[in-house]
Amino acid sequence: MKNKDAGFLFVLLIITNWCCTKNQADELITTDDLIEKALDDEPGICTELFAKDHSRAFGQKNLFWAKHQLRVRFMGGSTYVQNKVKYFASQWSQYANITFQFVDSEPSDIRISFNSKDGSWSYIGATNAYIASDRATMNFGWFSDQTSDTEFRRTTLHEFGHAVGLSHEHQHPEASINWNREAVYTYYQNTQDWSRGEVDRNIFQKYSISSTNYSDYDPQSVMHYYIPKSLVIGSWAPTSNTNLSAIDKQFIGKIYPLGNGTEPTESKLCNCPEDLSVIACEDYESYESQAGFNVSKNWKSWSSSASLGELQNYSWGKVLKIAHSPTANPDLLYLPGVLESGNYSIRWKMYVGEGSSAYFNIQKYEKPGQEYGAQFFFDNNKEGKVQANNRQANFTYSQDKWLNIQLDLNFVQDMISFSVDGQNIASWPAKWTATSGSGISQFGAINFFAIDEQSKFWLDDFCVSTGGFQNLTSFATSHFDQSAPSSNHSIVKQ
Ligand SMILES: [Zn+2]
Repeated sequence: MKNKDAGFLFVLLIITNWCCTKNQADELITTDDLIEKALDDEPGICTELFAKDHSRAFGQKNLFWAKHQLRVRFMGGSTYVQNKVKYFASQWSQYANITFQFVDSEPSDIRISFNSKDGSWSYIGATNAYIASDRATMNFGWFSDQTSDTEFRRTTLHEFGHAVGLSHEHQHPEASINWNREAVYTYYQNTQDWSRGEVDRNIFQKYSISSTNYSDYDPQSVMHYYIPKSLVIGSWAPTSNTNLSAIDKQFIGKIYPLGNGTEPTESKLCNCPEDLSVIACEDYESYESQAGFNVSKNWKSWSSSASLGELQNYSWGKVLKIAHSPTANPDLLYLPGVLESGNYSIRWKMYVGEGSSAYFNIQKYEKPGQEYGAQFFFDNNKEGKVQANNRQANFTYSQDKWLNIQLDLNFVQDMISFSVDGQNIASWPAKWTATSGSGISQFGAINFFAIDEQSKFWLDDFCVSTGGFQNLTSFATSHFDQSAPSSNHSIVKQ
């Protein structure tokens, strides 16, 4: 059921001078700070490098590649991390005729190292061709098997943006950031040990209009630095962009136009449907062992005494088994990233054995137990129920087969819809908690729990995408008319 892998994200900033070398980058970046920051989910600082050509420019015209397929070779990194980079890098290919072929031998256009002492950086566009084939052209300084998908996505998209020729958005020719200049000098002196000259080059200097291809200045671009509010005079929404913006997609498609469906498209590494705009994918294939799975940042046990389930490896792929255990009962959280203010769809496959049961619930926050959303019961007699706000919707389901589970989240209209095998079971306001009609409109995690001794089920192929259904008006609280027996309303795991 799985043949592929998963993906990720992002990065940071700054520019050194022309002809910068890795060693020079070393001197500029305090890597330990960066790693620590990255682990705290604060964006790190990326360095963009230009070989040969010192006239750095935002999307400089002559730095775009003349070809459409780039050969990419890894110089280190675990299988897990490599698969994440492959997956998230390929997201650029959905919007432009530029694809990445991952190879094990020369020749290569891009070479990726994972030197933890060297920050994250990339050479820009076609200048990669000037770098000797035994040297890296891109480095991810803070990726590990514990990195979140959000961070994988943000940093990978950002560095590959550089690799296809894009520069830092905050230095856009039309950027209109009202800098608090002295605060900026102090901030980067303290955090990056940059001189005033380095701050001028990396932050204040804009790219020239004449030598640049550019779209409108886009504070939402994945190529924009994270800029704290304290560095800007007046109003400023701190930019912590972790995904391609609408303008990113549009602009790269203009630089590398897609053909009329005749161009080859990058094969999907994780098992998500082609038509989804995927922001997280989990099919377990990237884990080499249970140990690797246990330290993944996408999965956490509810408590230290709970287990994460068993990663099983079949000839056709890997799945996660959740079965009741009197000693270390599975109780785990899937953490694809906090979702709010938009439309999303979360889909996965679930298999409940004959005579067995399954259970999961929605957690509003990533930290477990703060606020429960709806609870979903798949009882061992093939009857199921959804409970939220002390109401209940009943359904029946099939055992001994893979079920297609789908949660559509619409935070614009404050609605959630739950479907099994394409059939809508129930819809309800996203703000509902398990036991009340008012809570936060937000998704933090799914909690899978071996709720009773009959619990035995398998999980696979999680796809989290933007989109979801757009118009929920007709769904409002459908199928939730019946109130549940009062004894049934409580949160099952306290
Ligand atoms: Zn950068």
